[in-house]
Amino acid sequence: MIKTRQIDVKNPATGEVIESVKVDSKEDIESAILKGHSALKAWSSIHAHEKARLLKKWSEIIHNNKSDLARIMTLESGKPISESLGEVDYAASYIDWYAEETKRLYGRTIPANSENKKIVISKKPVGMVAAITPWNFPAAMMTRKAAPALAAGCTFIVKPAEETPLTTIKLIDFAHEAGIPEDVVQCVNGPGKEVGEVFTDSKLIRKITFTGSTPVGKQLIKNSADTMKHVSMELGGHAPIIVAEDADIDLAVDQTIASKFRNAGQTCICANRLLVHESILEEFSNKLKTKVEQLKVGNGLDDDTQVGPVINEKGFNKIISQINDAVDKGAEVVCGSNTHSDTEKEYFFVHPTVLKYVSRESSIMQEETFGPVIPITSFQDLDEALEIANSTPFGLAAYFFTNDYRTGNYIHDNLEFGIIGWNDGAPSAAHAPFGGMKESGLGREGGVEGIEPYLETKYLSIGNLS
Ligand code: ADP
Repeated sequence: MIKTRQIDVKNPATGEVIESVKVDSKEDIESAILKGHSALKAWSSIHAHEKARLLKKWSEIIHNNKSDLARIMTLESGKPISESLGEVDYAASYIDWYAEETKRLYGRTIPANSENKKIVISKKPVGMVAAITPWNFPAAMMTRKAAPALAAGCTFIVKPAEETPLTTIKLIDFAHEAGIPEDVVQCVNGPGKEVGEVFTDSKLIRKITFTGSTPVGKQLIKNSADTMKHVSMELGGHAPIIVAEDADIDLAVDQTIASKFRNAGQTCICANRLLVHESILEEFSNKLKTKVEQLKVGNGLDDDTQVGPVINEKGFNKIISQINDAVDKGAEVVCGSNTHSDTEKEYFFVHPTVLKYVSRESSIMQEETFGPVIPITSFQDLDEALEIANSTPFGLAAYFFTNDYRTGNYIHDNLEFGIIGWNDGAPSAAHAPFGGMKESGLGREGGVEGIEPYLETKYLSIGNLS
């Protein structure tokens, strides 16, 4: 008898198993793909206002179950409950946005060069879409793919991260409860590489949409080449924050904390490097220290927790090695760097850490940290700050603080990043295009841009009219 494989989903704050989820076999996944493909014609034929109604119903059910969903999310991801509650709203906002956008999938007509002809352009769904999502935003990274896909008339299958499948499974159940047919939106579970290869090998899947690490994204693009799939990639980042000489320091400190410590620093747009003008370095780092030391670390289920655990031992080891490497290369620990972990029980906490005088050669200044650590370095003039900010293969998010419009305009014009916050450490929104340049990805999610990657342009030329 073949033993059913399972994924044990663990609470990263305690290491306890919350629930086990069945791993889908290759046959299970292929059968789900076939069902999704077969459902395509009927789903894409449903008129836009009905699709909008179903999507809105989905969002309504999510809102009605907000606290249960948030609790599941905190249990499996470790993020503070306040952040999970915020993520439920954020996840639903993508569904609300694309419930409206589905009514605006306009075509156009093009004036022909003959009385005898008419040219009509229309938008059609790309086909069946497969999504692979990460553990750091188990709800929102799924809905911001599913909502535009369904709104475009595509059918959709998702494989959530092994660490956090429970939130996704619940959300997909809610979609069915809303009346979206079971074959139109599906979830399968299993190891990334295994499921990813079934997706990319399938001729029936016409698009892969992925949020995760850059190496995996590159592999998915390569594997999608043979069947010429559409790809959307939301990959790694290494966000700089530039604090200019004239910045409002209190605002910059607060927004740095908002950007850096959300989800214990485990988001792809978290500030990864702080570049502070040398004239304000001491004042800035002192004020930052005072506030960072007040952050409460703990189990995300406790109401007052602001920083939860890191997701696993691999993530923990990377953070610690980056701190040690920075210190070895001359950095000063302003605060934090202490940990609370148990390798046997499998929970790992890193206390919010600020490092000063960090060398540009340190690994933390070059590689994504995914942890609650802020390395600060200083600069003398804006061109130096921009040179440091742009000297990375990544181009996802960047932030800057200045109250001078010329300085702001100059920094904005010269940053090579897809998402930029000016005096704003929290730029994400369903109504705005999220995505990166360079090795941070391909395509945008959210906004009017976010549905385009799920659409084909069809051009009809009618002749012999008169
Ligand atoms: P992280 O290291 O932060 O977990 P990953 O990019 O490895 O980031 O994971 C993000 C998602 O990609 C998860 O759902 C994971 O299962 C999936 N994944 C990991 N490796 C592969 C792969 N080789 N092919 C397809 N998906 C993968």
